Amino acid sequence: MYKINGNYANLKESYLFTDIAKKVANYAAANPDKKLIKMGIGDVTQPLIPEVVEAMKKAAGEMGSKETFRGYGPEQGYGFLREKIAEYYLTQMNVQLDADEIFVSDGAKSDIGNFTDLLSDDNVIVVPDPVYPVYVDSNLMLGRRIEYIYGNESNNFLPLPDEKTTGDVFYLCSPNNPTGAVFSREMLRKWVDFALKTKSLILFDAAYEAFIREDLPRSIYEIEGAKECAVEFCSFSKTAGFTGTRCGYTVVPKALKIDGMSLNKMWLRRQTTKFNGVSYVTQRGAEAVFTPSGLLNVRKTIDGYLENAKIMTKTVREKGIWFTGGVNSPYLWIQCPDKMSSWEYFDFLLNTYQVVGTPGSGFGKNGEGYFRLTAFNTKENTIEAMKRISK
Ligand SMILES: *Cc1c(COP(=O)(O)O)cnc(C)c1O
Repeated sequence: MYKINGNYANLKESYLFTDIAKKVANYAAANPDKKLIKMGIGDVTQPLIPEVVEAMKKAAGEMGSKETFRGYGPEQGYGFLREKIAEYYLTQMNVQLDADEIFVSDGAKSDIGNFTDLLSDDNVIVVPDPVYPVYVDSNLMLGRRIEYIYGNESNNFLPLPDEKTTGDVFYLCSPNNPTGAVFSREMLRKWVDFALKTKSLILFDAAYEAFIREDLPRSIYEIEGAKECAVEFCSFSKTAGFTGTRCGYTVVPKALKIDGMSLNKMWLRRQTTKFNGVSYVTQRGAEAVFTPSGLLNVRKTIDGYLENAKIMTKTVREKGIWFTGGVNSPYLWIQCPDKMSSWEYFDFLLNTYQVVGTPGSGFGKNGEGYFRLTAFNTKENTIEAMKRISK
């Protein structure tokens, strides 16, 4: 008789977005004349830039011709794309990487979920609360012990290690989903020093790095020593609208070694065994993001989202509501007014203003009493939503 992985029985069902969808559907059915504005789900809304579309069309054409057809590509991604990503790190962040430290994937979620294949199951995993749920569930599936570091108002939802901090593997996300908070260089310095001292591993999620417009670190490798203690995950999803196209990349520095083993070599082995690469067409599309006009156009798209975030920030500030994010991030993390719980505020915004957001309690217990609004919308809708809220 076969046996299943019993850890799956320990996973909590995630009802967050289904519960939201149900409430929204019920409201819409009862109030067909009311226009809802959705500021809930963390998905982009603007289309791919023309450079990407043209490159993918051209690549599809190549696949249809005998002379230029390609079969299996390198599991870790084509050289043409990895070279461009390395160049991006150098020119944008002044971080020097070799192309073979970069692994192209079908998105950051898969790599974040798969990377812990390399780690023994007796590691203590430390995740921030509130949190992007993938960090928690991918480890629970392996029966691992999880501890939390808490974000709250006193640390602006940017928890730092102190003398009492213990654990082996630490997830960090900056700019953060769901809070929009961004670590400063000094803060990341503390995390890197801590990891080097305690021989811990940092798994750094940089999915929103392209939203940073102030002088804040976009890569953990901007901090000296990080190559010896950190893996970085990034993605074209939020930076270039690839949520439906699927492409990301993971940086595993060659300097990252423990017990005489190279994590770079282990990850290459893992990927060549269990992964067969991202489609050629998609990788050509991703490459086009790094052309001069591609970089300019994705920046314009993100500028649009950031403009929305600014409009939202203005309203929230005028109302005297405490918040994080809203700059260098598409997320605004607000404290629910009048001591409302996250779900009470959700119902209030839906029923009173027909604005849909995400209850903070869905991201962990420290999210209770908070609420996430996203800037992934049109400017008109954002203005309209804020007009309703300021009434
Ligand atoms: C959207 C997002 C990702 C990216 O996921 P993809 O699989 O690349 O689409 C990673 N981390 C966080 C925190 C995100 O919000």
